[in-house]
Amino acid sequence: MARGHSSPNPARIAVIGAGFGGLSAAVLLRRRGHSVQVFEARDRVGGRVWSDTLDIEDERVVIERGAEFILGGYDLLREFCATFGLALADSGMSYYVRECPELPGVTTQTLAAFGARAMQAAQRLTRPTSITALLDELDDDPDNRAALQARIEISAAVGADVLDASGILFNVGSAEPARSWRIAGGNQRLAHALAAEIADHITLSCAVTAITTTDEGLTVSTAHGGHRFDYVVVAVPFNLLQQGRLEIDLPAWKLAALSRLVQGNAAKLHLPLRTSPPTSAVMSARDRFWTWTANDGDAKVSPILNCFGGHLDFLNKLQVERGPDTWAQRARELRPDLEFGDTGATLTAWHVDPWARGAYANHAPGFSPADADALTTPVGNIFFAGEYTDPDNIGLMEGALRSGRRAAEQIDHAAAARG
Ligand code: FAD
Repeated sequence: MARGHSSPNPARIAVIGAGFGGLSAAVLLRRRGHSVQVFEARDRVGGRVWSDTLDIEDERVVIERGAEFILGGYDLLREFCATFGLALADSGMSYYVRECPELPGVTTQTLAAFGARAMQAAQRLTRPTSITALLDELDDDPDNRAALQARIEISAAVGADVLDASGILFNVGSAEPARSWRIAGGNQRLAHALAAEIADHITLSCAVTAITTTDEGLTVSTAHGGHRFDYVVVAVPFNLLQQGRLEIDLPAWKLAALSRLVQGNAAKLHLPLRTSPPTSAVMSARDRFWTWTANDGDAKVSPILNCFGGHLDFLNKLQVERGPDTWAQRARELRPDLEFGDTGATLTAWHVDPWARGAYANHAPGFSPADADALTTPVGNIFFAGEYTDPDNIGLMEGALRSGRRAAEQIDHAAAARG
C-alpha cells in the first residue's frame, strides 16, 4: 500500500496487539486516512520483538530477548527500515551453519548435504508427511540424522513428529551458509518507529477481553469498557485465539484451520563473557539448544553468548521455569572455548509469557492451501493478522509485517466497497 492514496470511505478500525503484525496494519491503514486505535496488553510495543540493553565490562550490549535474525527475503522489513532510517547490522555469522561437537562425525558440510536432500525430498511429497517420517524414509547416517532432526526441532521449537514436511522451510531445514542481520541498536527500534507514526492512537497496558458483533458494528471490550468500531484487526498469537483467551465467536472453518497449526515453544538465555570472542555458532543436539556469538552494529563481536532453546520437553529438561542455572551450566560445558563472566544470566521464557504462551506457529502435517486461505479470511468485519497467517513466512518477523499489510489491504478494499 503506497502512501498518499486516501480511502474514499474512511472507517473506524481497532487493532488488537502492537507486535509487528498489528503495528504494520495500523500504520498502513492510518496512511490511507482511516481512524485507527491500537490496544496492546503489554506496557510496551513490539510483542515477541523485544530488545534489551546489558552493561557488560563497561560496555552497553543490546540483546534480543525475542526475534533476532533478519534473513534473506525480508523485503517488507527492509522497506520499513529504509523508510525510518534504520540500518541493518551484519551478524558476521550464518544463522544456518552450526557446529555440533556432541556428534563428532557430523560436519557442517555433511549436515548441509543432508538438509538439502531432505528439502528436495519434501518438495516431491504428495501426501501429508511429518518430518520424522520423511527423515526415516531418507535413512541417512544416524548421527547426521540426529543432528538434522535436532537442527529442525530447535528452529521450529517443537518435535519433528508433529511438523509438516512438505512445508519444510528453508529457514528451518537449511544448513547452507547465508548472511543474517539484525537492526542496528535492536530489532525493537522498528516497533518504536512504527508506533511513533501513530503515537496518539495506541493504548498500552490495555488487554482486549472480547470482540462482539452487534447491529451497530463491532464492540471491543477491555477492562475500561466497550468501544465501537467498523472493523477490527486481531493481531495476537494464534494460540490465544485457540485457547479462547480473547473471546470471539469463531466459526468452525476458522477453528479447523487454527487446529492445523502447531505451537512452538522457546526460550533465550544471555550469558555475559569477559572478552569479545570470534563469531561462532554451536548447537547441542542432545539438549535442543544452540549458542552463538555475533557482531553488533559496529562490526565488533559482542561479549555475550546468545542461547536459543526450542521444544518444550527440552526446556523442561533444562529446568527453564526454575531459572537460568541448569541451562547456563550446560551452555558453559558446550562452549569451553569461551571465558564466561561472573555476572548474571538473562533468561526469557516465552512459553510462560501470558501474552505469547509460546514462541511461534508451524504447520502440522496435512496443512493445506485451503487452511492458509481460511486463516486470512475475515469473520464478518473481524480481520486477522500475525505471523501464523502468512504461509510463506510463518513464525517470522517478515511474516508478521506482511500479514499486517495484507489485513490492511483487505480492510481498505472492504471499506471502499461499502462506500
Ligand atoms: P506478537 O509479536 O506476539 O504481537 C502480538 C501482540 O498482541 C503482543 O504485543 C501481545 O502482547 C498482544 N496481545 C496479546 N493478547 C492481547 C489482548 N488480549 N489484548 C491486547 N493485546 C494483546 N522471527 C524472525 O524473523 N527471526 C528470528 O530470529 C526469530 N527468533 C525468535 C525467537 C524467539 C524466542 C521468539 C519468541 C520469536 C522469534 N521470531 C523470530 C518470531 C517473531 O518474533 C514473530 O514471528 C513476530 O514477532 C510475531 O509478530 P506478531 O505481530 O504476529 O505477534
